[in-house]
Amino acid sequence: MDFFESLAALHPAVLAGFAFVLGGLVGSFLNVVILRLPARLFHDWRCQCRELLEIEGKEESPPGLVFPGSRCPKCGTAIAWYDNIPVLSWLVLRARCRHCGTSISWRYPLVELATALLSAVVIWHFGATAEGAAALVLTWALVAATGIDFDHHLLPDQITLPLLWLGLALNLWFGLFASLEDAVIGAIAGYGVLWAIFHAFRIFTGKEGMGFGDFKLLGALGAWLGWQMLPLIILLASLVGAVVGLSLMVALRHRRDIPIAFGPYLAAAGWIAMIWGDRIVDIWLLG
Ligand SMILES: [Zn+2]
Repeated sequence: MDFFESLAALHPAVLAGFAFVLGGLVGSFLNVVILRLPARLFHDWRCQCRELLEIEGKEESPPGLVFPGSRCPKCGTAIAWYDNIPVLSWLVLRARCRHCGTSISWRYPLVELATALLSAVVIWHFGATAEGAAALVLTWALVAATGIDFDHHLLPDQITLPLLWLGLALNLWFGLFASLEDAVIGAIAGYGVLWAIFHAFRIFTGKEGMGFGDFKLLGALGAWLGWQMLPLIILLASLVGAVVGLSLMVALRHRRDIPIAFGPYLAAAGWIAMIWGDRIVDIWLLG
């Protein structure tokens, strides 16, 4: 038995347990991506503006995605490995930096725990298969995209475009989630539908309701899952968006004209469609 066969023979609960631990570790890295990728993008854009406008001087370079390791944002002390264990360290340290006592946001353990749980569900559903591995990659990319869109109303091309090409490639070479034809139509239709809605909305109301990152993300989801999943994704995203949006408006007196990022809803809907889409569409068509 080779490594993958012996892995596949394990009980689904054991595999899901492994995926949970792995997801926690990846979630810890995704926290860094959510924090540093936008900082790097803003730095690039500022540098380009300086160049274009011929402004002298230099922009200070932000930290890389992998190096240097995490530091306390307040006192700058490097965080030791034993203080960087997903979720557990945050609990042990009672949400405070070991050195200066600054409180550490609950966002970090939340992202770690969410990534761990989502990864466990993916492997529970797909098992130790190629689909499972690919689905983990999509899940992690969606978590990072969600965090960044939530913070900055921005879905970076650095996440959405590689996802699009990866989805097409996986379906071209392995037919993992859809046929190549369904994937290509999915990419075109996913981008095209939101593009059309965006321009119609702008012509009729004079407002911009979405960003171009949303089109690219839906295009990427179409490339991964095939065009058949697009109606479900748009419906789920709108439903969840409406429920959360209205609750926020009521709870926080969020003003109606403040744009709410659509990316997190698309990402959540795409993830649900990846796991349960076939079953939901079956019930829908038969029911
Ligand atoms: Zn500190």
